[in-house]
Amino acid sequence: MNLTTAPSAVDPAVDFPELAPHARTTVRLHPRRGTPGPRDSHLGGPLWWPAAEPWPECTGHKDVNGRPEGPYPLVAVAQFTAADFPGIRFPAGTDLVQLLWCPDWHDQPHPEGWGQACRLFWRRAADVTDPLTRQPDPEDHWAYDEDMVPRACLLHPERLTEYPWHEELPAGLAERFEAWLDERGLSDDVSVIPGWKLGGSMGWGVTDMPRRLDCGACGAPLELFLQCDTCEYQPGPFGPEGLPHRFRPLEERHLEPHTSQEEAAREPTGMTVGRGGHAGLYTCSADPRHPASLFTQ
Ligand SMILES: [Zn+2]
Ligand SMILES: [Zn+2]
Repeated sequence: MNLTTAPSAVDPAVDFPELAPHARTTVRLHPRRGTPGPRDSHLGGPLWWPAAEPWPECTGHKDVNGRPEGPYPLVAVAQFTAADFPGIRFPAGTDLVQLLWCPDWHDQPHPEGWGQACRLFWRRAADVTDPLTRQPDPEDHWAYDEDMVPRACLLHPERLTEYPWHEELPAGLAERFEAWLDERGLSDDVSVIPGWKLGGSMGWGVTDMPRRLDCGACGAPLELFLQCDTCEYQPGPFGPEGLPHRFRPLEERHLEPHTSQEEAAREPTGMTVGRGGHAGLYTCSADPRHPASLFTQ
């Protein structure tokens, strides 16, 4: 199955050249519920995990009387292979990355981070010769559709060009672009693309962008690794301007809005990120093995 984003109403490379040099590539993941295997790229499925390596746990829980609770096994959130995602900057000798988190909110390595405590594991798939077959069941401690536990999804990656959040652009440029769009009655459908995606730029409409976005271990700039989103596109067949919504995949426009099938396409993981927004997992641009921070919007 291919899932395709509609063309944008405006192409800055042609129509607004001042913005063009700021173009970035992002990869929309287009997660859709399915049954991934342990070697596949996926969200919420089984990981290609060595049986001899202890499953990571969260020890940061206490009951109402302050007594330690748990530890609870971390939840498998995502797995990406280099074969499927050559754009990921894998550290030398690795070709598999796995994201696990505790569904509760915890402190982050970056002081302005807010959200789930994330762990990334970078591996060489061929090193896992004896994979773990029985993995912890998130439902022992958590509930799908209530907690931050993703339903198992297959991925249908699509590379797109997008433009950064306005606070990342040189002073005045975002305002000039906005005015140019206003004059023509267009809306911005090229910046900070919604939905689950790898790389690119995230919207910071809730908190504003932190003034410094640096790695706590080495000081190098952080960069967006993965955006997690409640919705892949806005509900209804039309966007806020009454135009067909660009981010509703062309192949799914026949789905009747607000049916269970359409809702599963729009909110495939069943997770409500923050208050129905999105979050970005930021990694160190010098070494993605340095502790990563989640920023929830
Ligand atoms: Zn925890
Ligand atoms: Zn670093």
